[in-house]
Amino acid sequence: MAGNKAVVYVEPKKVEVREIPYPKLELREGPGVPSENVGRRCNHGVILRVVASNICGSDQHMVRGRTTAPKGLVLGHEILGEVVEAGPDVEFIKVGDLCSVPFNIACGRCRNCKEGKTGICLNVNPERPGAAYGYVDMGGWIGGQAEYVMVPYADFNLLRFPDREQAMEKVLDLTMLSDIFPTGFHGAVTAGVKPGSTVYVAGAGPVGLAAAAGAQLLGAAVVIVGDMNEGRLAQARSFGCETVDLSKGDPQGQIEQILGVPEVDAAIDAVGFEARGHGAKAGTEAPATVLNTLMEVTAAGGALGIPGLYVTGDPGGVDEAAKKGSLSLSLGTGWAKSLSFTTGQCPVMRYNRQLMMAILNDRAHIADAVGATVIGLDDAPTGYREFDGGAAKKYVLNPSGLLG
Ligand code: NAD
Ligand code: ZN
Ligand code: ZN
Repeated sequence: MAGNKAVVYVEPKKVEVREIPYPKLELREGPGVPSENVGRRCNHGVILRVVASNICGSDQHMVRGRTTAPKGLVLGHEILGEVVEAGPDVEFIKVGDLCSVPFNIACGRCRNCKEGKTGICLNVNPERPGAAYGYVDMGGWIGGQAEYVMVPYADFNLLRFPDREQAMEKVLDLTMLSDIFPTGFHGAVTAGVKPGSTVYVAGAGPVGLAAAAGAQLLGAAVVIVGDMNEGRLAQARSFGCETVDLSKGDPQGQIEQILGVPEVDAAIDAVGFEARGHGAKAGTEAPATVLNTLMEVTAAGGALGIPGLYVTGDPGGVDEAAKKGSLSLSLGTGWAKSLSFTTGQCPVMRYNRQLMMAILNDRAHIADAVGATVIGLDDAPTGYREFDGGAAKKYVLNPSGLLG
């Protein structure tokens, strides 16, 4: 039997590549696996040989020790791979298929899945709605920053690429379909971006850049990206975005210089709870900054897309309230302007097929937009460190050696 090397969360600031068991069509006991999920049979699942698995800002929250992630958790929720074994109840996916795996695990049978809300499936995590691979509080499903991974409910979850050779040519774009491209696009859709919209995206990490690219795909007139990381802002400019440097202060004045008015039609939070303050406060964490800023800069009647992650428990929170995920929001501003808010996991399946078509037909170049950078599985600890340091790159692990 083949071995299985994987990226494991050891302790805050430390991940290691370790040998873990080869997957079975069953969820075994392990770090973070709720007792009700132990021994769960997955005849509806497949085993994938992982071709690409990306490091995400969501992983960094755990690795920085800012969540209740258990030590020993196998990481990785952004997965593209080839089916090497299919369970007896898998009808349509076949051995040899090359597929993208939505990071949400969804059963396809519950009320929420039937309504397309696959980020809050009711049957995959006994502790709360919604599950993911390799993530704290997400059902204990084993992560895919590994050589092999098990994907349950395969017929429902997997997006099969129509042609393997064509897919391998664009594999660095297609690997963004498991999370950040749909997530950024969802941010733009839920912020109400339309042809001609003016858009502000807070955060120039991979999700912010994907949101900016998504807003362009939706026909936005102007996309303005804000961050305090100059390398990442340069990345945003590389595909036609305007940028504002938040180390210089709040964005309103800089937005006004670009648009002639200090507000936008639509705004997206691609930062989340580890947000830092603006200007002189850029060195300090201020978890409500982005949400409060977006309420200020969005025109009355507009909407906020909020893919940035907010948690229910944060051991490193700036104060007692933040430790419980409670933030000091100026909700009155949002209320007075009748703003709408959309939070939560992106329901990847709502968008991944259409974005795949945009990639395969050269309408979207997401790998270039986010600075996709291939590294070996063994180099994952370095990738995590550099990404945490603010590199303007999206690291793609190459566990099978198939990425050029
Ligand atoms: P990242 O950490 O690489 O990027 C965050 C960026 O925000 C950094 O460049 C940082 O400098 C910048 N930033 C900090 N404070 C800021 C502020 N006040 N204004 C503007 N920018 C600021 O992370 P990422 O991979 O791009 O992910 C972004 C967020 O999206 C994370 O919270 C991640 O967990 C979340 N996420 C959510 C989903 C979902 O389904 N909802 C999916 C993927 C990622
Ligand atoms: Zn992710
Ligand atoms: Zn479901």
